[in-house]
Amino acid sequence: MGYIVIVFFFGLAGGIVGRIKGGSFFLWFLISACVPFIGLLTAIFSRWENRELRRQCPGCGRVVKLHDALCIRCGTELEFPDVAIASEASVHERMAAAGRAR
Ligand SMILES: [Zn+2]
Repeated sequence: MGYIVIVFFFGLAGGIVGRIKGGSFFLWFLISACVPFIGLLTAIFSRWENRELRRQCPGCGRVVKLHDALCIRCGTELEFPDVAIASEASVHERMAAAGRAR
């Protein structure tokens, strides 16, 4: 019984950390619940998904992460781009700042 409670709280903590970083709550909940201590650490040290720079695929126009080597939609091999698109987080911050200015 005690073990289930511990696993649940590790899952919950991992899920919250994953969600804050722009990942899936459910996915990180499962990871942290399956491997309690390591899963939570992985969530904490994982990349900030919504802070990654992005770029547009030249093949299909889909916006993908800057570090992706292949487009996940059309499979085009992507070279490192000259121009990057601002990360989702920085776009949100700019929109929030514009909202306050009005
Ligand atoms: Zn593509």
